[in-house]
Amino acid sequence: MNIFKKTFRKFVILILVYAVIIMILKSSLLPANSYYILFGFITFFVLLIAYFYIRFLTKPLEKIGSHLQQVSENKYYELPEITLNEFQQIFIDLNILTVRLKKYETKLSKHKEGFNIIIESIKEAIWIQDKKGLITISNNSFTRLVDQRNVKDQYFWNVIRNKELYDLSDRIFQNPANITEELDLKDSRFLASTSYSNLTGETVFILYDITEFRKLEMIKRDFVLNVSHELRTPLTSIKGYLETLEEELSKDQLALVDVIKRNTDRLINIVNDLLTLSRLEHIEDLEIEKITTADFLQNIVNIFEFRLKKKKIELAIDIQTRENYFHADRFKFEQVIINLIDNAIKYTKDGSIKVIVVENVESTIFEVLDSGSGINQKHLPRVFERFYVVDKSRSRKMGGTGLGLSIVKHIVNLHDGTIEIESEVGKGTKFKISIPKV
Ligand code: ADP
Repeated sequence: MNIFKKTFRKFVILILVYAVIIMILKSSLLPANSYYILFGFITFFVLLIAYFYIRFLTKPLEKIGSHLQQVSENKYYELPEITLNEFQQIFIDLNILTVRLKKYETKLSKHKEGFNIIIESIKEAIWIQDKKGLITISNNSFTRLVDQRNVKDQYFWNVIRNKELYDLSDRIFQNPANITEELDLKDSRFLASTSYSNLTGETVFILYDITEFRKLEMIKRDFVLNVSHELRTPLTSIKGYLETLEEELSKDQLALVDVIKRNTDRLINIVNDLLTLSRLEHIEDLEIEKITTADFLQNIVNIFEFRLKKKKIELAIDIQTRENYFHADRFKFEQVIINLIDNAIKYTKDGSIKVIVVENVESTIFEVLDSGSGINQKHLPRVFERFYVVDKSRSRKMGGTGLGLSIVKHIVNLHDGTIEIESEVGKGTKFKISIPKV
């Protein structure tokens, strides 16, 4: 039975008892004086009972009120047990709730502590900012980086004055997304990574210091470029002398020199490919121009005319685009198509090669297809890696270096394009390159 019903029932009983007593008194033949004294006395007595009963009822309510207030201030204590009161069950339930809340609070503060330990132990600068750009959480690495202690609840642009970071934050504000990009900050190079939470509308920023990594990369690049450069002259000279020597040698000696020549050629190919790759890595801007598709492809096919005839391979060009031109860095994009056709010829015994050009709204798409040996699926994810060759002895025989496709991929990336490969052993290979329209 609910509290209201119980209380109401008790009041009704009290009033009924009172009324019955008054009626009995009235019907007894008491003198008027005694009647009024008795009436007054009984009324007083009933009011006293009502007073204590109301007190008895409201006292637990006061206790519940002050208990809830204390709990809201994170002061957890249990209410005393009460019996003989309508509020007994509420006290019990409140106590269970308090114990649970206390447990959650302890758990939460442990998680918070753990979170703080983790965030502080990370050497990357981390901060979280809300929709308005106010910093809500940050770690020590961040405060060290910005050289300020109290950064909480400050606008991040007041803490770090950096245009690239401001632009990044602005882009996330306009279009919430997870972004990773490099930027310069305080004489160092950073990789900034952002992670947006749909739930809270906050963004986590992490700055990875990649200054040393970039320096090492530069040293490695310069080293490869210099070594390749230094090797090219002596290798070309060795090849020249070998060719002179050939005229004066016997048949047996010629066979030996031929082996040396083939290996020298291989070395020259590697050095040339390394030089191409290193030069590409040093490039920051492309010289994009409008190129007539048909002329561009025909000029490349002409280079291979002799090899195609020799291997009896048909090469067809099929341009299906509405516009007869595309935009790219002519010299570099030539290298892409040359490398792909070169591979297609190398790895096709007899059969055909097709270069198809199609388009969609955003890109011009070049497909180079051959009916050659194909590549096993397990090698496909790795063929664009440097020095990765599927079959070492076959590649060596063909004069391959394992660098051709990495050069292709690098140039496609420079054009903000994509490259895909599909292949089936014994059936052929298809490379699909998409480069954005200007
Ligand atoms: P390589 O100089 O050895 O040809 P690439 O980087 O150009 O090096 O190619 C990597 C490997 O991918 C090659 O070793 C070859 O096995 C395989 N490959 C590339 N293109 C083709 C193709 N059109 N058909 C079959 N295999 C190919």
